[in-house]
Amino acid sequence: MSNRLTPLEIMTKLISFPTVSRDTNLPLVEWVEGYLDSHGIKSHRWPDPDQPHKAALFAHVGPWEEGAVVLSGHTDVVPVDGQPWDTDPFVVTEKDGKYFGRGTCDMKGFDALAIWALVEAQYADVKRPLQLALSFDEEIGCTGAPPMIVAMQDVLPKGSAVVVGEPSMMQAVTGHKGGIGFDTHIVGFEVHSSIMHTGVNAIMEAAPLIDWANDQNAQNMAAEPSDIAAIFDPPWTTCHVGMIQGGTAHNITAKDCRFMMDFRMVPGEAASQWESAYLQEVRKAEERMQKVHPEARIEISQNFAVPALVPEQDGEAEALVRSLTGDNATHVVSYGTEAGQFQEAGYSAVICGPGDIAQAHQPNEFITIAQFNEGQKFMERLLEKLAG
Ligand SMILES: [Zn+2]
Repeated sequence: MSNRLTPLEIMTKLISFPTVSRDTNLPLVEWVEGYLDSHGIKSHRWPDPDQPHKAALFAHVGPWEEGAVVLSGHTDVVPVDGQPWDTDPFVVTEKDGKYFGRGTCDMKGFDALAIWALVEAQYADVKRPLQLALSFDEEIGCTGAPPMIVAMQDVLPKGSAVVVGEPSMMQAVTGHKGGIGFDTHIVGFEVHSSIMHTGVNAIMEAAPLIDWANDQNAQNMAAEPSDIAAIFDPPWTTCHVGMIQGGTAHNITAKDCRFMMDFRMVPGEAASQWESAYLQEVRKAEERMQKVHPEARIEISQNFAVPALVPEQDGEAEALVRSLTGDNATHVVSYGTEAGQFQEAGYSAVICGPGDIAQAHQPNEFITIAQFNEGQKFMERLLEKLAG
């Protein structure tokens, strides 16, 4: 297996592993490990102790010293269930100047380019090290990267500039919002609706909490955005309820109501501040409920938390990507990525990858051949730079 594969051959291989977030990614990790090993690159696996069917993988090439450029991608993809695909989603199919397949855009196309670049770096005389970091569980709330980042720092000399290759049309994206989400389970007390004052209706107790979110949105929208918030769309923190279920029948006070509330914060607003504001409302509602029935309660669990990517002053990763792409415009996005987690761990981080986020998660997901080739050019220029 010691022949050097092209980026397309590597992407084709990666996409053949159906690494939907709920399923294993180990066959993919094993293949990458073997491929790197066949080129004399030792990689390190971080097996998730809570999920034995998943692992992250990272590797280092070049001088054994700090300051590497880190190419970071996730190995998981979103499901294809119920989506009308015209081709097999786990086979790369070329048509009309595009490569179709689940993950071509988000983000096995970039992963393939990063693996390719690492192998090329191994054969070039790079003066500055290059690292590869492949995570899992990105699509279910960026929960796989933080322990991987800790493990990397234990095993490898610390890198300095991280390029997270989420699809950005090869533009330098220097900021994104942070996010935090909660599952709220309201446990009421069931009675016949004709005597509803003796029961606790979980649905009707959910309503004021959801309305609180509406009020926050209205206030945030009306407020003057900070300078840093002003570059986002929208330039304020959003509170969103995307799912709700509850109740049994029209004439029973609802015993249960569950909903999911997400906050997407502009940089400068802490997750903890929104969490405590929300929990304060929850405690007020619970007190009200328990006056009617002591066992009524509200259970809250956090389902994800992703720190914001804050645009850096003279950021090293940003400067690197700008020098490689020639892109000098300001770009920020409102979705979360692993870039904020690298930044929180003390790395300079930027998002830059081939493909358009509009194609991510879609049926018939694709990356244009032109974008994929742009990605390869980016890696070639990076390799020249690393060679000094
Ligand atoms: Zn992604």
